[in-house]
Amino acid sequence: MSKGNLIIFSAPSGSGKSTLINYLMSIMDCFEFSISATSRAPRGTEVNGKEYYFLTPEEFKSKIANNEFLEWEEVYTNKFYGTLKSEVNRINAAGKVALFDVDVVGGLNIKKFYGERALSVFIQPPSIAELRKRLESRATDSPEVIESRIAKAEKELTYAPQFDKIIVNDDLEKAKNDLKNLISDFLK
Ligand code: ADP
Ligand code: 5GP
Repeated sequence: MSKGNLIIFSAPSGSGKSTLINYLMSIMDCFEFSISATSRAPRGTEVNGKEYYFLTPEEFKSKIANNEFLEWEEVYTNKFYGTLKSEVNRINAAGKVALFDVDVVGGLNIKKFYGERALSVFIQPPSIAELRKRLESRATDSPEVIESRIAKAEKELTYAPQFDKIIVNDDLEKAKNDLKNLISDFLK
């Protein structure tokens, strides 16, 4: 197995993960997002193979039994979500680096499975107070949702030391530059 073909990003909501991933994808064109599988029905304009791979609960369970998932979860009753091992192979076969945007537990599990082939990156806010400020100024969530994100963030921050690298997103230009250098080094 060759080295350096998947990158995992985890972060508390509001840390700036989307901002930093979008930046990275705008300066390097070698990345492709891993598409999750789910047993929930498609919503609205969702298309199989784009937002998700839509499976029946039976198909999903049979793939669990065949050990085809890197990680999976029953998020709601009979609504399964997970990452297929075949995604990494599909993306790498196309000559691309697979990007994962997942929760901290999923991120650490994927890293454990792939070892040196993977780089796990934790995007950290400078403080909880600043995280709250960003969530408030992003203005996409109600005060209750912001409070639940903050409570979750406090727990998520305790996982940061288990990641390969931590990028502290305080000054955005510095964080972009740190990320660019980190990823360039890993892919070298
Ligand atoms: P996430 O994807 O981690 O939930 P976002 O990328 O949506 O976070 O960022 C949350 C908010 O904080 C957005 O409004 C974004 O523009 C802003 N933001 C991101 N990075 C910084 C930074 N370094 N300084 C100040 N604001 C930032
Ligand atoms: P939605 O149905 O709104 O698209 O997603 C519902 C939940 O499923 C979200 O909390 C999302 O994080 C989670 N989810 C989506 N993809 C995956 C995955 O590949 N693995 C796991 N464990 N959860 C996922």
